Amino acid sequence: MSTLNTNTSAERNFSLRDAVSRVHSGPGVYLMRDAAGDVIYVGKARNLKKRLASYVKNSGRPDVKTGVLIKKISDVETIVTASEKEALILESNLIKRYKPRYNVDLKDDKRYPSLRLDIKHPYPRLAIVRKIRKDGALYFGPYSSTGAVRQTLKIINKTFMLRKCSDREFKTRTRPCLNCQMKGCMAPCCRDIDKNTYDEMIKEVSLFLKGRTPDLINNIKRDMLDAAEKQDFEKAAVLRDKMFALEKTVEKQAAVSTDFMDRDVIATARGPELSLVTLLFVRGGFLIGSRNFTFSETMSNDSEIVGTFIRQYYETAHYIPKEVLTPVTMEDAPLIEEWLRQIKGQKVRLHRPQRGEKVQLLKLAIQNAAKDLDELTAARLKNTETLVRLQKRLRLSALPDRIECFDNSNISGTLPVASMVVFKNGQPDTASYRRYKIKKVNHPDDYAYMDEVLRRRFGRGGASKPYPDLLVLDGGKGQLGIAVSVIHDLKLQGRFDMLGIAKKDEKRGETQDKVYKTGRANPVNFGRDTDLLLLLQRIRDEAHRFAIAYHRKRRNKTAMQSALDSIPGVGKKRKEQLLRHFKSIQKIREATVEELNALPGIHRGLAEVIKKRLSQPGKPVPI
Ligand code: SF4
Repeated sequence: MSTLNTNTSAERNFSLRDAVSRVHSGPGVYLMRDAAGDVIYVGKARNLKKRLASYVKNSGRPDVKTGVLIKKISDVETIVTASEKEALILESNLIKRYKPRYNVDLKDDKRYPSLRLDIKHPYPRLAIVRKIRKDGALYFGPYSSTGAVRQTLKIINKTFMLRKCSDREFKTRTRPCLNCQMKGCMAPCCRDIDKNTYDEMIKEVSLFLKGRTPDLINNIKRDMLDAAEKQDFEKAAVLRDKMFALEKTVEKQAAVSTDFMDRDVIATARGPELSLVTLLFVRGGFLIGSRNFTFSETMSNDSEIVGTFIRQYYETAHYIPKEVLTPVTMEDAPLIEEWLRQIKGQKVRLHRPQRGEKVQLLKLAIQNAAKDLDELTAARLKNTETLVRLQKRLRLSALPDRIECFDNSNISGTLPVASMVVFKNGQPDTASYRRYKIKKVNHPDDYAYMDEVLRRRFGRGGASKPYPDLLVLDGGKGQLGIAVSVIHDLKLQGRFDMLGIAKKDEKRGETQDKVYKTGRANPVNFGRDTDLLLLLQRIRDEAHRFAIAYHRKRRNKTAMQSALDSIPGVGKKRKEQLLRHFKSIQKIREATVEELNALPGIHRGLAEVIKKRLSQPGKPVPI
């Protein structure tokens, strides 16, 4: 497929200009490495020579951010491909493999909630979620805030008789709840509700959530007139109320285009440390929501950023509109359109508008991106200022940009676990969190647990990197002493600061938690900087929450396995089969007799026994 053409310029005086002179002028992929040999950027080009020459041009302009990054290049490797399409695929694969530091790695702003409609359930309900999964459910949104999503849900609950209870409650109800009495639910939990009627309602809800309210109103109006003609005035009145309620919501929505098309609008805003891509969702001509994605330093230009965004976002998006407006003209737009067509199964147009209402839409997206970037940058700056004060107050050797905090959880030594949470720039970095099952200590001993976990975290040589700037232990001098001795054993002393945070002892009249630092006998006095203590408490509490959640998970799993152990007819093999299929004890508990019976080897009688044994509420389950 491709020819490897490596310009191994690991020589000390790497010259990008020389490297460019040796490069092929066809399509391909280039990998840039830093002095340590790590791949820091992967790019693709229709013409490799031309693309790399553009870096030479930028490198002479140190005022430009890219110019600064270019100075870090110590080697360039190029891979020539037979076509641009091959280059596109290869670039994606190499980015996934190397995760280069200066490629755009979009972080989804998870503040925005969505609505999930589980259409696999015979009588689906709407639930507010933060994560969009590829699980066959329908997702709507994202919404600009929890308030906005709740408002939408409120309108739906008032207008449609969708069920509101959880799946579990739905299965176990023996009588309809208050929602039914208030005419807010048809009560499919207990009544024989025609599935087609419910499905029709689900279609209407979907239309509403897709921004197709005008179409929905037309449908309802037609049904209302039909009912009136047949002199079914009761039905006509219900439909009239529904129509009025929906018309009211339409009045509040912002119509942004007159062709009533679905389209996404992309805009970018770039700052020195942080950049942002904003995506506006226009459905049926109405602006229904937006979403932000952030990324740090990159060597990509605006056109590459937008191209990368499209490929990263639409690879997993639950819906691709027929048109995507972009703020730049992309060289490889036809290639990306072809890629989108393959995913959607229909033509998708990438378009940079030049005039008319589409330009207004783009301007709106650009304004939003700039405003959101300003807000995010200000928030980051505030976090940095807090960390600078923390460094000063605790006399830390470095700015505590990466803080790691450890905690243990167990009940009288049963199923002991530990957690590590990471805060970057004062914010939780959940992707870096770790949890540990204690393996070597078989008696209740908090110090020994901490010793084991710290050795596992820091005792892997280079693989233990990155190290924190500040290590925080939940506990007092004892835990801190353990950390000091482990770090000393691993010859890591001086690499980072360490402290322990212990709960206040109210019996002794203590009014606040105590923070112990190595080399100090007494707790740190925070004076008026109580916000700094609050930050450390927040980090400690997060480690505590994470450890407890893991402990609970282990406990439930063990309890479930034990519960299965006690069912006659369920041996080791069937137990594994059930857990493999349903993934958790909770899901086995929620499964119907039919679902259990559907598994090979589980006859109806056994399925009934399993169901009965697992649904005996209040029965103590051995751990
Ligand atoms: S009436 Fe039944 S289905 Fe409807 S919300 Fe209540 S419990 Fe759920």
